[in-house]
Amino acid sequence: MSPTPVDVLVIGAGQAGLSAAYHLRRRGFVPVEADHPDDAPTFVVLDAEASPGGAWQHRWPSLRMGTVNGIHELPGYAVPPADPRAPSREVLPAYFAAYESRFELAVRRPVRVRAVRRADDDPRGRLNVEAEETDGIRSWGARYVINATGTWRRPFWPTFPGQASFAGRQLHVHDYRSAEEFRGRRVVIVGAGVSAIQLLDEISAVTDTFWVSRTEPQWDAVAFDTAARIQAIAGVEERVRQGLPPGSVVSVTGAHWSPWAQAAKDRGALVWHPMFRAIEPDGVRMPDGTLERADVILWATGFRADIAHLAPLGLRTPAGGVRVRDTRAIDEPRLFLIGYGPSQSTIGANRAGRDAVRAIVRERAAATV
Ligand SMILES: Cc1cc2nc3c(=O)[nH]c(=O)nc-3n(C[C@H](O)[C@H](O)[C@H](O)COP(=O)(O)OP(=O)(O)OC[C@H]3O[C@@H](n4cnc5c(N)ncnc54)[C@H](O)[C@@H]3O)c2cc1C
Repeated sequence: MSPTPVDVLVIGAGQAGLSAAYHLRRRGFVPVEADHPDDAPTFVVLDAEASPGGAWQHRWPSLRMGTVNGIHELPGYAVPPADPRAPSREVLPAYFAAYESRFELAVRRPVRVRAVRRADDDPRGRLNVEAEETDGIRSWGARYVINATGTWRRPFWPTFPGQASFAGRQLHVHDYRSAEEFRGRRVVIVGAGVSAIQLLDEISAVTDTFWVSRTEPQWDAVAFDTAARIQAIAGVEERVRQGLPPGSVVSVTGAHWSPWAQAAKDRGALVWHPMFRAIEPDGVRMPDGTLERADVILWATGFRADIAHLAPLGLRTPAGGVRVRDTRAIDEPRLFLIGYGPSQSTIGANRAGRDAVRAIVRERAAATV
């Protein structure tokens, strides 16, 4: 079957994809399958999840509205007031669902994009998007693709000598559910980001913990939107421009002394140690040669961009990233990556969605004069 034509195809309906869809709507784009005049520009959003909420629907149950790291609402519609004790995995998906219907974004789901390819050698031609729907493969021919696929399905685990010999349990925060399952067991927590610190706080309340990370956490007592933070994000921007793997924004902005983190520190839960050098059946071998006993190793070591479906475009640099400037792939100008690199935060995702749509609108206008 020939590809269904569409002007803009958005992959992913998390914060980034919904922001893009909102701005497309505002700029007069209509969902491709709605009734519309022949000359109206069209868009479609494809999302792999069965229901709204992006990655929020998978966050662990104890990640509550009061402990998330500061959420910026989606553009144009405030998050309804929520109990700080309410799980973010319930509040935010409900908000996303309301948002999608309020702005009639017509997200198609569950639809997983398997591959994005150039239709031919014409640099102004279409990109073919191969999407797996419940009843088979469907092909789209898009003038622009906005990729907003996040990181949740790509947890990152570093490798260490002896890792396979460990007799206890190893898990990534991606699969964490509750501190209770570790009661009575000694848990080594690896990582210097916000997730590591939150889980240390909660697991240390029920059992013995030991905290390590490769670099010492940078505690930043100042408020979020400081010049230092802006400068750090500029550093990630420069990395993606050069095609280096982006790294997490939080890893460069540092951890934040929120009231719960301060309380955890005051009760002695945040005692940091340098990274172990090897893993043994009963624990981890520290740089000074001592063995720290462990029943569980919890890897809070971040996530990587989920972009394997873009591989047919051949954009990956030898350094392992994609070269992106101002949300646009430098080596494939019909492709935008949002929620990628410097825009891997709720506020960054909002802005990136807006910026990608602005660039598309500007270019379409220039092409018609
Ligand atoms: C544990 C954790 C806590 C966080 N807390 C905060 C916080 O408090 N504040 C903050 O600003 N940021 C936080 N972040 C960062 C957060 O990931 C971003 O802010 C933002 O929510 C990510 O939105 P997104 O749209 O990029 O990705 P996601 O929410 O992951 O959405 C991506 C969507 O794309 C879909 N998708 C993926 N691949 C495909 C495909 N091939 N085809 C079709 N659809 C696909 C997915 O199913 C998903 O619905 C946190 C991250 C983590 C891991």
